[in-house]
Parts: sequence; structure tokens; C-alpha cells
Amino acid sequence: MKFKRIDEVVEWRLCMGCGACVPQCEGGALTLVDIPELGMRPIVNPSKCRQCGECVKVCPGIEISHELFSSQTIPELSQEWGPVLEVWEGFAADSDIRYRGSSGGAATALALFCLEKGGASGALHIGTKPGAPLTNISVLSRSREELLACTGSRYSPAAPCEKLNWVEDVSGPVVFIGKPCDVVALRKSQANNAVLQEKVGTAISIFCAGTPPTAGTYKILDELDVKAGDVEDFRYRGCGWPGVTTVRMKNSSQTRQMTYEDSWGNILCNYRQFRCRLCPDSTGEFADISCGDPWYRRVETGEPGRSLVLARTEKGKQIIQEAIKAGYIELVRVGPGTVPDSQKALLNRRRHLWGRLLMMKLLLVPVPCYDGFDLFGNWLKLPAVEKLRSLAGTMKRVVLRGWIRPLKPAIGGAKLQDSNSSERPLNSPIKSES
Ligand SMILES: Cc1cc2nc3c(=O)[nH]c(=O)nc-3n(C[C@H](O)[C@H](O)[C@H](O)COP(=O)(O)OP(=O)(O)OC[C@H]3O[C@@H](n4cnc5c(N)ncnc54)[C@H](O)[C@@H]3O)c2cc1C
Repeated sequence: MKFKRIDEVVEWRLCMGCGACVPQCEGGALTLVDIPELGMRPIVNPSKCRQCGECVKVCPGIEISHELFSSQTIPELSQEWGPVLEVWEGFAADSDIRYRGSSGGAATALALFCLEKGGASGALHIGTKPGAPLTNISVLSRSREELLACTGSRYSPAAPCEKLNWVEDVSGPVVFIGKPCDVVALRKSQANNAVLQEKVGTAISIFCAGTPPTAGTYKILDELDVKAGDVEDFRYRGCGWPGVTTVRMKNSSQTRQMTYEDSWGNILCNYRQFRCRLCPDSTGEFADISCGDPWYRRVETGEPGRSLVLARTEKGKQIIQEAIKAGYIELVRVGPGTVPDSQKALLNRRRHLWGRLLMMKLLLVPVPCYDGFDLFGNWLKLPAVEKLRSLAGTMKRVVLRGWIRPLKPAIGGAKLQDSNSSERPLNSPIKSES
């Protein structure tokens, strides 16, 4: 299916909520809205929409293409992880950044290096909205304190690309931090906008297994017996590795906590958006540098955070090396095998993807178009039984969950409804991923 308007992308559940379409729309017809069961979604104002199709040009939900990889790409990694020039493990040298960071604070430490020594004027990323601890907003950080305030993973809708237009007003280059889909949206926006092309100096991606909509966070609050209105502060992880999910209550020093295994493993990951289940890029293949967790071994209680850091471009390589020299980050080179050993779930999802997309196409469900990923080669690595289970599982879910039909309506600010049923939650948890 050729998508001509962003509301069609939303209706077919291919929107990931990056927000890039909003600044791309010169007529100002798009507003980003957080729909608790779905995620951030652009809502079209029909009286302002010129039907020009500019919005879909920057959408990472419908198409992602790789060009030729650098000749320095590590051959063992290219088929399943994209261009990786170097693999590093370590942590931010600044102990506050390391402690408050999601993993080892690498994303923040590298962004701080770019700000303080690399000539960047700001870092565009996300943080929590003052006074609304469950809401994420775009932030342009210009200092260590501002970066530090935004450390940690937010396992809820976040749309850093909604404010890509801010970059145009900043005097010098800007560092961008986001999820892999945010970085793809950034790259597409840069291809359409010479100012962005020139001004976004470096793109840092965090690894991402998929974004849960706000309904996932509400479920955590339910489990902790906390009302959303009573929350003063909500941290999903960090302050230790991986740290605990911690809710601080208003007007009291009381906190409620849940282990990361329970909050992410048993709740949030089951809420992930539909489109995230079809994502070929969980590790930021289009960024200069990407950061994730080195989960290749058991993390001992009380262990300080560590990051897995991938240099994906020449520029990324140079920044990592200069940041080490300047004392912003402590990293050691590790073998390529550390990547698959650390991210088994992401590898498994990538290997299932070709079959998932095939089954959806057979059922006439529109799917994203991916170029340069060798998903068929990845699929061949699955055992035969797993391939059959994957195909059957996809068919069952597509039919039973009504994904065969679009959501309606997406225009005019009305809440999106599943055309199959208005009672069942649109993104109710799914346990099995096969
Ligand atoms: C939805 C989600 C899924 C994840 N899945 C995986 C996974 O499968 N494997 C894995 O190893 N790690 C995963 N992570 C963790 C993530 O990769 C780590 O945060 C990463 O290691 C960076 O850690 P750090 O300490 O270097 O980052 P920090 O120094 O803590 O900086 C984090 C940066 O990420 C930005 N950020 C936080 N949340 C979001 C968000 N939702 N959208 C855009 N930007 C954000 C912040 O603004 C900040 O700049 C996930 C995180 C999220 C938000």
C-alpha cells in the first residue's frame, strides 16, 4: 500500500509516535496526542491539511532503507545488527551520570562531551514534563545539569522529533538522542531539510525493544496501588543497574517500588506498540553511536551501571575516542560476540520478522517496506519448527485481534477506535511473541 497521508499510517497501526511529521507539516495541520492505549499519535486537522503528502516523507513507520555500509563494518555483525565499526563496554566517568543513567550513562556522557568539548550548542532529547511526571516532552539541554535531569529510560511514549524545528533556531550544531525509530525519522527529515542536515552534528541512539503506551505505566501504578494524580516522580529504572522502578508520592516522602524484572519484564514489555513488533532496527543502525545494556552476563546486586556502546560511523568512532581521551567516558574494546550475547531477545525478534511480514502480506495487511536489512537471511537462521510456529502465531494474532482492518477514525481529533470492537483495549497485553 502506498501511504499518502499520515492518518492512513496511524489507522494501519504503523505509527510509532516519533513526532517527525508534525514539524514537517508546513500548514500546521498535525497535533501530537498521547492516546493511552496506543501511544503518541498525530491527529490531522482536516481544515488545515493540504493533502500534500509531505508528512509521510519523513515517517519511519512505513519505510526504512539502508545504503551501502562502511567498508569498516564488522563482517560478523552486519547481517543482524547493521553497520558496526567498533564495540565498546564501559561507563560514564562522571559518577552521578553513571548512577542516574539507564545503563552506564554512556548516552549522556557522550552528549556532554559533544556539548563541552565538541562544539555542540545543545542536545535535543526527551525528559519529563515539569509537574506532569508521567508525560515525556522534548527538551533542548545545554548543560550537564539539564542533561543529568533527563537520564534514564522512559518506557512510555516520547517524541523527540516533534521539536526538530528547534534545531533551526540554535546557533551551533545539535546532538540528537533518541530511540532507533526517532533516529530514522531524524535522518529522513535531514534528507528533506538542508538546515537540519547541516545542524544536527551527531545522532546517538539508545537500544529499544519497543515502546509501551501510557496504559503500561497505568498498569504499574495499579499494581502499586497508586493513583496517577498522586505521583510526584516516576523513574522506570536507573539509580543502580538496572535499578528499580520507583514512584515518589506527592506531599510525602513515601515511595513505592517494583523490580525492573517485574515492571519491564512482566508488565511494560507486554504492552509494546503493534508497529514495534515489526521493527527491524532495535539498536540504532542509523545513528553515529548507539548505546544499550551489556546483558551478556548476570548483573550482581548493587553493581554499578555499564553500557554497551557501538560506533556506527566514522564520526561516531572519532567522538568515542575523543571522549575517552578527554575523560568523559571509560570504555574498553570488546569482541563482536558481545552484541548478540547481550541482546538475545532483539536478535530473536529480527529473525522472526521476515515470516511475520510475509504472513501479514498474505492476509493483505499493509506492512512497512524495508530495504538493505537481509531479513530473509536472518529468517533462515531460525529452526524449521520455530518458523512454522512464527507463521501460525502471526496468522492467529492478525485475525483474532482484528489487525486485518484499520483503526477508525484518525481525523478530526476523535479518539481512535478499533473497528473490530470498541470494548477490548486497543493494545491489550500480548504474552507470546512467536
Ligand atoms: C522503550 C525502551 C526500550 C528499551 N529496550 C532495550 C533493549 O531491548 N535492550 C537494551 O539493552 N536496552 C534497552 N533500553 C534501554 C536503553 O537502551 C538504555 O537506556 C541505553 O542503554 C542507554 O543507557 P544510558 O545509561 O547510556 O543512557 P542515559 O545516559 O540514561 O540517557 C538516556 C537517554 O535516552 C533518552 N531517552 C530515554 N527514554 C527515551 C525514550 N522513550 N525515547 C527517546 N529517548 C529516550 C533520554 O532523554 C536520555 O538522553 C530500552 C529503553 C527504552 C526507553
